[in-house]
Amino acid sequence: MRKILPLLVLACAFTTQAEQHQSHWGYEGAAGPDQWGNLELDFATCKKGKQQSPIELSGAEIAKFSAPQLNYAAQPLKLTNNGHTLVQDVSAAPAHMSFGGQDYNLKQFHFHTPSEHHLNGKSFPMELHFVHSDADGQLAVVGVFVQQGTTNSTLQQLLQKVPLLKDETVADQNSALDLFALMPAEKHFYHYMGSLTTPPCTENVHWLVLNTPIEASAEQLKQLNQLVGNNSRPVQNLNARTLTLTR
Ligand SMILES: [Zn+2]
Repeated sequence: MRKILPLLVLACAFTTQAEQHQSHWGYEGAAGPDQWGNLELDFATCKKGKQQSPIELSGAEIAKFSAPQLNYAAQPLKLTNNGHTLVQDVSAAPAHMSFGGQDYNLKQFHFHTPSEHHLNGKSFPMELHFVHSDADGQLAVVGVFVQQGTTNSTLQQLLQKVPLLKDETVADQNSALDLFALMPAEKHFYHYMGSLTTPPCTENVHWLVLNTPIEASAEQLKQLNQLVGNNSRPVQNLNARTLTLTR
């Protein structure tokens, strides 16, 4: 892992010129989260929106709806470094979620270090986002907190083959990632209506954050933080929204 940081620095130096015609956003300084809304007209929702994510999760009401049902087949590894995070593609095998009478397809999952949502005033070393879409393009994201503990087998499969350069993809058709190993056994979900946590901060996203963290080893958390950097947007105001928790 010692070789990764210099490689990432090199990758940034190579891509700077190509990126000049694209929007720059990041997690610190003049392109950091509190400036996203000023960087591009299309990003205005980042500062004007009233339903932004992430948020502090506490004081939830009991949800009127039942918990989502997840049905994920094992997936072959197809991991892309997009310069902001690592994204595991989910398109090779069926992965469905039923929620609120709608059927959603899992599209991808990715990583934030440290966590974006906070739980009862506390952040975690990592948060996974499982991004789903229904046939009409309605988004629903399942969030999973990760705390330090025992080694996670699925994360270990991913960490054995990681794309180090921006826009690089690593694939392995022979691997089978068990996505349920990235979720707690007991599934109670916080639900609220929020947004993408990256520009353009689009709203009307169903957020479903599991209230029980999973575990990863200290070494796995360190490696993932070295790979994706500190890529967490600060918590946003709840405003007039309702936060609920499924039984
Ligand atoms: Zn995310």
